[in-house]
Amino acid sequence: MKDKIIPLVKPSMPPYSEYINEIKDLWDTRYLTHTGPKHNRLEKALSNYLNVDKIALFTNGHLALELSILALEVKGEVITTPFTFISTTHAIVRNGLDPVFCDIKKDDYTIDASKIEELVTEKTSAILPVHVYGNICDYKEIERIAKKYNLKVIYDAAHAFGETVDGINVSNLGDASMFSFHATKVFHTVEGGGVTFKDDNLYNKFGSLRQFGMNQKHEIIDIGTNAKMTEIHAAMGLCNMKHIDDEIKKRKKVVERYRERLSDIKGIKLNEEKENIKNNYAYFPVLFDGYKANRDEVFEELKKSNIMARKYFFPLTNNIECYKDRFDVNKTPIAKYVADRILTLPLYADLELSDVDRICDIIINI
Ligand SMILES: *Cc1c(COP(=O)(O)O)cnc(C)c1O
Repeated sequence: MKDKIIPLVKPSMPPYSEYINEIKDLWDTRYLTHTGPKHNRLEKALSNYLNVDKIALFTNGHLALELSILALEVKGEVITTPFTFISTTHAIVRNGLDPVFCDIKKDDYTIDASKIEELVTEKTSAILPVHVYGNICDYKEIERIAKKYNLKVIYDAAHAFGETVDGINVSNLGDASMFSFHATKVFHTVEGGGVTFKDDNLYNKFGSLRQFGMNQKHEIIDIGTNAKMTEIHAAMGLCNMKHIDDEIKKRKKVVERYRERLSDIKGIKLNEEKENIKNNYAYFPVLFDGYKANRDEVFEELKKSNIMARKYFFPLTNNIECYKDRFDVNKTPIAKYVADRILTLPLYADLELSDVDRICDIIINI
């Protein structure tokens, strides 16, 4: 008999009856999209949870990021990381801007802030770092550099929903932070995204940009797109919000089991846990360096047993087919080193601890 398939991720869903109850009134109201009552309730719930005055909601995280860059009027060059999901780099390029890739830190894989300043030119207008795997960037140093050179800071916080650093919710960092509510993320609306921001004026700007550039009087004031969150999606968000603490607690249990089994093994480096960060347990990356098997061998061995790990992030975005002729991957050697050795293991709230054991046994006994 074939081994049971263990997927990399498995979206959490609220009890069926909860969701059905939440969407029932749509058959009466026929209010399906356009910042409806459910959208507005979700906005409030998320603002509370993330400890911000306002959040703007979108059809997905990627468009939320593209529109953040547009709304903040970023021009020219944007200093960013290649160790991320392709969305981050696409969002810059699709705005007609030039990404400038900064290397990452070996300990937590976030942008190496000590290497940002040397990349600043007169064309630089923003920094776009990523809180990769929920590891929070060196926000103080990034803020210092941004002030010194008058740069905008937009965080890709897709991995950091609900996290705090030094007691500050990450949604309060930078000029704007983008969150993804994709089905595979810790909190989701099936597809969806949100942006938190410093300048209050951005709220109306986002409202217009996601609705073809229309203002509340239906005048076209901007070259916008269509990126609204529907009531059906907001309803999923409202239901999932009720279970978010439980979701994170369950993920924590899975991560603790992985740590128990895989720490202190020669050649296996786990993601460091930091005292000043409240984690959301979104990912479990493992770095294989000097282990008896390399990353690709571990990946294949797991696959043979129907366990779906992922080489995340490999390749680097500056080395992906559509970009590799434009950028030199050797300028970000640490990112390259990490991308060649990292593997994220299956992680979701309902992952059985016995399955975690099966995964770890295969890695240990390889
Ligand atoms: C998921 C993700 C995105 C894109 O979000 P979507 O909601 O899928 O559009 C962007 N950046 C990172 C780092 C992500 O993980």
